[in-house]
Amino acid sequence: MLPARPVFTAHACHVCKRLHTKQHRLKSCGSCRLVAYCSAEHQRAHWPMHRALCKVITRRVRYLGTDHIYREALNVPSPEQWKKIRFKHMAVCEEMLGRPMEAYEKEMFLYPRACDTCHETNPEKLHTCANCHSVSFCSEDHLRKNHSKYCKDLRTLLDIHSYQNSHGVCEPPLPDTVLSEYEMLPPHIRELLVVSLLGPQRAMALGPVPLTVLTDYASYPLTLLFALQNIPVAEEVHISQRTELTVHVVGAEHATDCHPLGRWGSFLLHLLPRLRRLHVVFIGLELEAAGGRPGVTQHDFTSAACRAAGRRLTCELQPSTAYHTYCRSPQFRPPDVIAAFNAGLHRFAGHERRDTWRETIPYLVRDGVPLVLSGYTLLECPQDVARIEQEQKVDVLLPPRKNPYRSTRPQQNFLNEHEAPVVFKNQYVACLTAAAKPRK
Ligand SMILES: [Zn+2]
Ligand SMILES: [Zn+2]
Ligand SMILES: [Zn+2]
Ligand SMILES: [Zn+2]
Repeated sequence: MLPARPVFTAHACHVCKRLHTKQHRLKSCGSCRLVAYCSAEHQRAHWPMHRALCKVITRRVRYLGTDHIYREALNVPSPEQWKKIRFKHMAVCEEMLGRPMEAYEKEMFLYPRACDTCHETNPEKLHTCANCHSVSFCSEDHLRKNHSKYCKDLRTLLDIHSYQNSHGVCEPPLPDTVLSEYEMLPPHIRELLVVSLLGPQRAMALGPVPLTVLTDYASYPLTLLFALQNIPVAEEVHISQRTELTVHVVGAEHATDCHPLGRWGSFLLHLLPRLRRLHVVFIGLELEAAGGRPGVTQHDFTSAACRAAGRRLTCELQPSTAYHTYCRSPQFRPPDVIAAFNAGLHRFAGHERRDTWRETIPYLVRDGVPLVLSGYTLLECPQDVARIEQEQKVDVLLPPRKNPYRSTRPQQNFLNEHEAPVVFKNQYVACLTAAAKPRK
């Protein structure tokens, strides 16, 4: 088993993820008060890892002359201000610590146990939502109004953390069902997985957490397929008729877009009976070379069923490469479709704070080649489309819309937490292409 990285969860023992309940109250570390444990034993177990940071926080609290690092946030009404306070203390303590903080140490600062509205931190005054065990409030009316909308997702997130804490990284096996007839995708990603690809029994045996992770794997190829099924194109180039398909995944990152690569077989090649040959190229400045090998790596990911039927899936990685660089290189292979998943094209300061998209955008918009864009929020997706429209003449084939093939794996959202404490990969999708030339 591959151990998962430690994750901080404010309402569970840091070591065993036992939940804080009325019957079993967790005890906060008496010095820093930012981390809690179910028992003295688990506090002792974590102490060697926690000592250095605990001392820094304690020093900081003493310097501030208060009893809790977030005392100054009490009754601060602005979400922006509350965010700034947490960020500031995190940065100061990291500086004092003299080494970069671990991810879970940052989470201690960013997602502390505090009232959802007034930021009270005294555990004696706090209640915790009994469903999600993820939010605290000092009184019923301090539980935020939109909580019921996110309660279930917050619970899913917590379940994933505690599953991985005891079982290691959740890596469910990919389904091997090959469809013999072309079908439109059903209305929801889970329906496709549970009914068509796994079958209810296998889905049940898999369990809820691995099934959620599987939707995360599946969401990338299926978002692409969903978009291609729902755009107006000529019959002969329709996705159902393709025998060969080259996909470019632009702005790719290893952990999100690539792993595991076999998913492009399970969730694309296996769903398109006419397709014989699928080639997926991942290009990204932030894409690391697999296994530390520099340059291009190409791999065959054909499943046994496809191999027997003479069908092939190959994936190619172009690490540390901008898309425009790849397009001018001798390795360039023309795409049939381009995808940019959660790429944030509208953000001007991207990789290393440079606007890396400016040079890339002209290469994203090609005659007759659909460009599929996805984003975390309904705010981002239209901004990405608008950014491209500013610089290129395009036809919007699929206006930004909610994506039924989004991942169902929640991700904590610090940036906009007061509006949505969790977000999902590929939550919104859009598709465009180069504007049709006027006929003479
Ligand atoms: Zn414990
Ligand atoms: Zn401590
Ligand atoms: Zn409160
Ligand atoms: Zn809740």
